[in-house]
Amino acid sequence: MSPEKHKTLLFKDRVCAWAHKLNVEATSIIVRPMRTKWASCSTAGRLTFDASVPDLPNDLQDYVIVHELLHFQVPNHGPLWKSLMRAHIGDFEELDKRLKGKIAS
Ligand SMILES: [Zn+2]
Repeated sequence: MSPEKHKTLLFKDRVCAWAHKLNVEATSIIVRPMRTKWASCSTAGRLTFDASVPDLPNDLQDYVIVHELLHFQVPNHGPLWKSLMRAHIGDFEELDKRLKGKIAS
């Protein structure tokens, strides 16, 4: 297995672990170049992540993963979403700032 493929598999494991922890179902997890954003989710439970996300530091990976998974429960960035983010990720606003300092490939 190529190192690249191995990294993608590890990342998908990470997404599955979070989905389990948050009690949401991700029907499919896709990693591909997205160019304009880090990730997106569909109401059908499909998650798409930019190919560069598995290269991010672990805490930023978790931020991107939990951000999207919580949208299965809360489809906006309102107070409920924010309090869930804080409960699972901690200071997510700081992570968001760090992420914005990077550029999605
Ligand atoms: Zn969002």
